[in-house]
Amino acid sequence: MTDLRLPRSGQCKWAEGTGGNYSFPCSNRVEPGVSYCDEHRALVYISPEERRRNRENAPVAFRAQKRIAA
Ligand SMILES: [Zn+2]
Repeated sequence: MTDLRLPRSGQCKWAEGTGGNYSFPCSNRVEPGVSYCDEHRALVYISPEERRRNRENAPVAFRAQKRIAA
């Protein structure tokens, strides 16, 4: 089967899936020649500084979640 549901032009090309079975759940619009919306571009081209910041933020989010659960 080669039923690849490719994203339309002008649509974010963020792909999700495994085993060659991909879908494109993001329907955010992008400018011509741009592959990803701002949100997913940040995930793909994440900078070392951003990565470190995310890691520092993670324990805080964990604590907040625990509090809600308890
Ligand atoms: Zn996107």
